Amino acid sequence: MSFAPLQGLRLFRSRAAPKLRVGSKGLRSFSRSAISFETPKYATLNYINGKFVESKAKEWIDLRNPATQELVTRVPQSTPEELKEAARSASEAFKTWRNASVLSRQRKMLDLQALIRDNMDRLAKSIVEEQGKTFPDAKGDVLRGLQVVEMMCGLPDFTLGQMTEVAKDMDTYTIREPLGVVGGICPFNFPAMIPLWMFPVAIATGNTCIIKPSEKDPGAMMILAELAEKAGIPKGVLNVVHGSVDTVNFICDEPSIKAISFVGSDHAGKYIHARGSANGKRVQANLGAKNHGVIMPDANKNHTLNALTGAAFGAAGQRCMALSTAVFVGEAKHWLPELVERARALKVSEGFQENTDVGPLISPQALQRAKDLIQSSIDEGATVLLDGRDVKVPGFEKGNFLGPTIIKDVKTHMKCYQEEIFAPVLVCLCVDTLDEAIELTNSNRYGNGTAIFTTSGSVSKKFVKEIDVGQVGVNVPIPVPLPMFAFTGSRDSIRGDINFYGRSGIQFYTQLKTVTALWREEDAVSSRASVDMPTMQ
Ligand code: NAD
Repeated sequence: MSFAPLQGLRLFRSRAAPKLRVGSKGLRSFSRSAISFETPKYATLNYINGKFVESKAKEWIDLRNPATQELVTRVPQSTPEELKEAARSASEAFKTWRNASVLSRQRKMLDLQALIRDNMDRLAKSIVEEQGKTFPDAKGDVLRGLQVVEMMCGLPDFTLGQMTEVAKDMDTYTIREPLGVVGGICPFNFPAMIPLWMFPVAIATGNTCIIKPSEKDPGAMMILAELAEKAGIPKGVLNVVHGSVDTVNFICDEPSIKAISFVGSDHAGKYIHARGSANGKRVQANLGAKNHGVIMPDANKNHTLNALTGAAFGAAGQRCMALSTAVFVGEAKHWLPELVERARALKVSEGFQENTDVGPLISPQALQRAKDLIQSSIDEGATVLLDGRDVKVPGFEKGNFLGPTIIKDVKTHMKCYQEEIFAPVLVCLCVDTLDEAIELTNSNRYGNGTAIFTTSGSVSKKFVKEIDVGQVGVNVPIPVPLPMFAFTGSRDSIRGDINFYGRSGIQFYTQLKTVTALWREEDAVSSRASVDMPTMQ
């Protein structure tokens, strides 16, 4: 594996390449010396009009490895001129890209998916360094995005229109057309998957695109831009700009941007949905979550405890589909001590270390917030069964680590229940009946994901029918659908009504035109005009 600087980074000063240990399953871990190499001096570049360009930014955001606090790169707040240049380049590219044949766009998707697969380890390495995930989990992040690109390889079929002869010699048919320039605003927790929900679908359907990755981990998107270029995506079709609120405001306000895809927190999402919509843009926004796992006493105990442990603490709880709330029904509450033992057994460490289960949180601020929420639960009368606040990670003492934490006796008014903690913290509530569990789940303001664990088909049927949550798992803890479906959500977890990826994604990035055409057979011979209202009879 090569460690040449990324296209998306400018090297200020050279550094020693980290030593790798490559095990039987490929890259498994870095040696300690690789982690503590001299602070690298990289800056993340803009990607505008087919060029990786250094920003003239006055404001820079330091990006630190969450396991070590070492500086990985500096992310610019792209300047107003750079943002305008990205929009100009995307508008210009749209004039020709919209006319690229469907087969040529399909070919680019075929090449892009092959390149992403070939660069899986490189993408995952960037994610571990910038975001903190474990290496296998980072590969999962890439793979779930890659599946969207693979689906877009079936593009010709998805964009087929409809046609019928509505009257003699008169046909009505639909054309699915691209919108123009579209923008994407991404969160930190899936640095590859979420940009891949956006730009491949946008581009394949004939749009041009401006992506703003999270300022906390743009590295994977920069590699993806490099791969898109290699796949032959023409200059200006994909652009990447950086920053935080100023860049977001630009995307919301710039008239040439016709649609915005957003994934992230409630606060930013509601704001972007309101501002973008007020400017007449189409906006899809996936927001926060508090996903409830309902555990019935008849469930398969071993499967359920493993599923809960993985879904609550995997990715350090920083998944929008993490099961962060467990609702034990009746006697199932007696499984709590065993759940604590499984959670305690998880290894907390840096993402390249062998067998790491739980990596660091994204920032010291995120760690402090999670610790404060744990403390608030104690202050409000809950009981912490497993407390990860004092976890020690040898060799990574400066990392933003929080060990798996389990809180019981939680009540719905408590802050730890009301807020999305986004950390390896599982809050547990107990109820007596399935009806109470359903009511509890439906009363929470979020509706992103949920799961029921049971061996009863009737119980699961009732749950699926009565639950008001966008993604429902039956004995499946993280029921994120594959791209032949769409990523759904309900209530406060979503704004806008056209979902990400799948046929929904194609619908989001296109608009329908209907054409009614008359080619009258007798016009070839008759010269008399009709002045009556066309009734198409
Ligand atoms: P975030 O809202 O802080 O950041 C997301 C994007 O919004 C970033 O690009 C950021 O620059 C921008 N942003 C942040 N604050 C802003 C503000 N005040 N004004 C304008 N723009 C702003 O989210 P995050 O912390 O990066 O990601 C975690 C959140 O994303 C969690 O709430 C998680 O549930 C949610 N999420 C949801 C889904 C889903 O599909 N429902 C998927 C992944 C993550």
